[in-house]
Amino acid sequence: MEHVTESGLRMRSTSTDCDCPKCKGSGWEIVEEKGYSYARECSCGIRKREVLGRKLKFANIPDAFADVRIENFRRDIYRREDSLKIIEKDLKAIGWWLENISEMQDQGMGFYLYSGTKGSGKTRMAVSIANELIYAKGLSVKFATSVQILNEIKASWNNEDGMTEHQLLDDLSKAEVLIIDDFGIEKVKDWIVEKLYHIINARYINRLITIFTSNLPIEGLDYDDRITNRIKEKCFPLVFPNESVRDYIAEANFNKLKEIMAS
Ligand SMILES: [Zn+2]
Repeated sequence: MEHVTESGLRMRSTSTDCDCPKCKGSGWEIVEEKGYSYARECSCGIRKREVLGRKLKFANIPDAFADVRIENFRRDIYRREDSLKIIEKDLKAIGWWLENISEMQDQGMGFYLYSGTKGSGKTRMAVSIANELIYAKGLSVKFATSVQILNEIKASWNNEDGMTEHQLLDDLSKAEVLIIDDFGIEKVKDWIVEKLYHIINARYINRLITIFTSNLPIEGLDYDDRITNRIKEKCFPLVFPNESVRDYIAEANFNKLKEIMAS
């Protein structure tokens, strides 16, 4: 069963609608052994689902991408031969990276996905990686566009009840994995450079994985060496096809609808 949370995320059942007879939805069962009784995590798995639910909520992945994974990444949507070759190589690199994730974590190695063409599948791939890390590897992932990050920082300046700027920067600096989508489209101003440097440098020092998507290659970014050198050192660059698949996906969805209507 699925329900929609406050943040709009689709989540699978948690304890609220569980009727496990052993723990009655609490997640803990009482075990009697040699005259002692103690509580242990119930085998129905509610607790694990709760933890997963919290991780998904924290991740803040856009609804449209809730179910995308590496194994269901639509490579057949690319129509050009050269695009297909590029995407196959990218998937190989990502597969290798996922297999070696503990080592990647030790070194803080992420990815920089880029292509000059919008709608080439970068965001879809970044979210596929995020879902893979959350579901299969149990990691905490935070997903945000760079514009969202900067807007949240600005909002924190005169938000008395919400998060302070310090808390926000701390969260972004400490997330196990941070994905910054659409990096480099923001207008470069001094305060923006300082905040982004703060986040990127903290993650660099603590060897935490950061994944970027961008329409620009690293050398094409409008930032100084302090930022670009850290990205270069800690991200494998992955070029994406110069082909927009956004229209193809819309077309495929429309054709599906037409099929249903005709049957
Ligand atoms: Zn139970």
